[in-house]
Order: sequence, then structure tokens, then C-alpha cells
Amino acid sequence: MLKIRTYNGVTRFDLARTLAGRGRYWTTAYLVDGRMVDTGCAHSAAELVQALAGERLIGIVNTHSHEDHIGANGRLQRQRDGLEIRAHPLALPVLADPRRRQPLHVYRRILWGWPKPSQGWSVSDGDVIETDRYRLQVIDTPGHSPDHICLYEPDQGWLFTGDLFVGGRDRAMRADYDVWGIISSLKRIAALPTTMLFPGSARVRENPAGELAAKIAYLEEMGAQVLALHQQGRSVDEISRALCGGPMLIEAITLGHFSRRRMVLSYLGMNASPSPPSPFS
Ligand SMILES: [Zn+2]
Repeated sequence: MLKIRTYNGVTRFDLARTLAGRGRYWTTAYLVDGRMVDTGCAHSAAELVQALAGERLIGIVNTHSHEDHIGANGRLQRQRDGLEIRAHPLALPVLADPRRRQPLHVYRRILWGWPKPSQGWSVSDGDVIETDRYRLQVIDTPGHSPDHICLYEPDQGWLFTGDLFVGGRDRAMRADYDVWGIISSLKRIAALPTTMLFPGSARVRENPAGELAAKIAYLEEMGAQVLALHQQGRSVDEISRALCGGPMLIEAITLGHFSRRRMVLSYLGMNASPSPPSPFS
């Protein structure tokens, strides 16, 4: 399923697999003056390619290598004769061989699917990716993943945040998330004068400074509470129940890969991923 909206020079594509007549777990890609920021998931890749059929494309930038952000890379690169793809250096091996480098849990295969391989070129913090009219500054923002970047257009005040900021008050996190890294990265982008924030899912925000500050305060406050309870000798499960509320649907869907417990473990620096599933299971 695909929906398109435009915002003064930025085209937004909301993309999701259609299950039982509805789009599920949407992800978002943007087109900025010929350059894509992310490409959605594999299940929506054909729809995105079709929607872009009449558009000029000069390249893709991936905010990170999660499968719901690189899903149409391969198709677009093949169709557009070697289209340039830029991403963090740690993302490039995943782009090149998603099945081997990013084994997917069953829920991820069902919701987003395995992207086709693509070849990327690395970007570094401070690099500027140009279009005819705009400049996208690369900002390293690890935490959600080690290879996460944000893109900032200083003249327009546009900020593309990928999955670093999608809003809301987190009560759960995925294995591998580094919550302290997320807080540091949020502080970095919160310091930028921003008029429009374009997230990797969820709604576009105008003048997002207040929401960014609130998110940072929320995560820091929760961190202080987690550490205090941990020092009192409370277990991870006890802390989860005390601070993160009741059971969540996403914990059942992901079999605990995305959970309240994982959020607490991240604050305690113990959120390494469990053994990844075999790509052939
Ligand atoms: Zn992600």
C-alpha cells in the first residue's frame, strides 16, 4: 500500500505491506529534488518503483540499513542504471547482502521482507549531499542502530530523522537499541534550527523543538528511574513492570524482540541482540 503527500519541495511516500486489506506497520520514504531518502520495505518496493516511474532520480540516501528503509534500493538501482546510493559505512555490507548480513525474525519477514541487494557508497559525518536546489548535511546519529544518520537541509531548516525520532513516549525497545546513544543523538539534532521534521514513520512535525526536548527529557527521566531501581536491587522484570506499564501487542508479535524488558536492559547497557535467526530457517 502506498500513499503520497507533498510538503513544499518534499514528496512523502508512506509504504506498507497490505494484509487483510490494510497497510501494516508503515514506513516512510521521501523524495527531495531527485534524491530519495530511504526506500521503504521490500513488500512495497514494486509500488514505489511504479510511483516513481515519471520522476527524475539522481540518487538515494539511506538513513540506516534496517530492512524497512532499504527495501526498494536494489530494484531502483537496477532499473535506473547504477543509481548512486549513499549510506553510513557500516550499512554498506547490509545493503550488499541483506540476507546474510541482516537475518530477519519471522515477524520482520512477514511485515517488511528481505530487500534485494544494492551497492552503496559511504558518507561521513559532515558530508554534504547536494541536489540542484538543496544541500543535505550528514549527521551521525547512532543509537537506534550503529549505522544511523540524519540529514539536515540548513537553508530550509528541514531535518530527516529516519528512526531516531518518530515521536511518542517509548515503553519498549528492540534488542540492539542503545538508548543512551539515542539520547545523545537526539540532543545533537535538537540543537539544529529546524522548521520541518520528516521522520521515518509517523507524522511530519512543524517547529519540532518542543517535541524533541520533551522526548529527551522523557528518556532521561526514565533512565534515572531505571538506574535508581537497579541500584535498589530490583530485577529487570520488576523494573519493566514498574516503569513501562502493562503488556504490549508488539511484544507478542515480535516474540519479545521488541519489549519493555529490552528497554530496561538498554538503560543498563545489557541490550545486546540474542543470537540472530538463521536466514534459512
Ligand atoms: Zn530502523
